[in-house]
Amino acid sequence: MADSRTLPQPPPGTPTVLVIGGGASGNAVTILLRRAGIVVDLIEAKPDWNATTGSGITLQGNALRVLRELGVWKQVEARGYAFGSLGVTAPDGTVMFVAEDIQTGGEDLPATLGMQRPQLQQLLIDTVLASGADVRLGTTAGSLEQDADGVSVRFSDGSEGRYDLVIGADGLHSATRAEIGITDKPEPTGMAIWRIAAPRPESVTRTDLAYGGPAYIAGYCPTSENTIYAYLVEGCRDRASIDPATYADEMRRLAQSYGGVWPEITEHITDPKKVNYTRFDHLLVEDSWHRGRVVLIGDAAHCCPPTLAQGAAMSLEDALVLAELLTSRRDWDGELLQAYHDRRIPRVRTVVAASMQIGQWQLDGVRDADMPGLVGRTMNLLKERP
Ligand SMILES: Cc1cc2nc3c(=O)[nH]c(=O)nc-3n(C[C@H](O)[C@H](O)[C@H](O)COP(=O)(O)OP(=O)(O)OC[C@H]3O[C@@H](n4cnc5c(N)ncnc54)[C@H](O)[C@@H]3O)c2cc1C
Repeated sequence: MADSRTLPQPPPGTPTVLVIGGGASGNAVTILLRRAGIVVDLIEAKPDWNATTGSGITLQGNALRVLRELGVWKQVEARGYAFGSLGVTAPDGTVMFVAEDIQTGGEDLPATLGMQRPQLQQLLIDTVLASGADVRLGTTAGSLEQDADGVSVRFSDGSEGRYDLVIGADGLHSATRAEIGITDKPEPTGMAIWRIAAPRPESVTRTDLAYGGPAYIAGYCPTSENTIYAYLVEGCRDRASIDPATYADEMRRLAQSYGGVWPEITEHITDPKKVNYTRFDHLLVEDSWHRGRVVLIGDAAHCCPPTLAQGAAMSLEDALVLAELLTSRRDWDGELLQAYHDRRIPRVRTVVAASMQIGQWQLDGVRDADMPGLVGRTMNLLKERP
């Protein structure tokens, strides 16, 4: 990791930031702040920074727009799989209709791109390391003590630091959120997802979603020339009641009711360790996302079921907006941090509500819902810069 002793020392008075959490939002904000010459320390709880769960990720244009700002678009484009439409199929694989995806990132970026999660994370890790941020893995913040001028932090390894600002990018179960007294907590939506990476059948060139089978949704997304990730969404069960050794059997049991390319995918659902089971949660902190000089971004402040594939996109946009405000002026007061919340909340609220609504229609068995209308309205809104 970067050793601050070998880096040129910043001029006295250079602002200092601690970023807690090295996921998409923490990495993105680190890269943007370092580019402006701000001193950034990043701590990540996991000793292995790229131990990402989940095999693939669907990135819409508005996420790609932020990745371009981060300087990694060319690599994302080379490693991922871009496409511009969404197919809806019957459980037997018959294509019912194909909808053009909206280019939320502008016409010079694809509407959608699938990517292997570890590849995206590695690109961001490499960019953080190249930025000169001081990174410490296997480290958390034990305590945060604020006064009018800054935040004193005691780390889990016993060391201490003092910062002008602390950014809590520590995800859905954010310890930072609790530490600053924000009591909102994630709630289950009633759904859960089985996911696996598999070789790409030649005919898979976009996301197809099947409704009407034993799962609420059976879908797949190409993540590179050679790979896809496939998923099945069902009613949430108590995770403790499912033996991880049976994960492949569980996913195969659901998958084998589907036709089209599913039999080919199902052949690869064999190793329980490669199958991921995750509950869908939602969270929206409506009130301010900061207390004093500690501010939340990403899943720590909001999270939605991935029915619109917008969680990471919203997290990356948070990083962009916060970095834009922090680099626009030196006095980082409550007014500035409130401006960040005010700029983000209407957009995030709309995305969380739409994502929840899509899931709820499925849970309630509503067949005639105007899903295309809701998706279209939401995606059109996301074309605007955050
Ligand atoms: C099943 C599923 C599918 C999804 N699919 C998509 C999709 O296709 N497209 C999309 O845009 N979004 C998707 N999302 C949402 C997306 O994964 C998240 O919104 C995104 O990862 C949030 O990024 P983040 O950096 O805020 O949080 P995280 O990715 O959770 O990162 C938080 C980081 O903080 C670290 N950490 C935690 N606690 C501490 C601590 N106390 N101290 C230090 N570090 C800590 C964690 O180890 C982690 O590295 C999906 C989510 C789920 C659950």
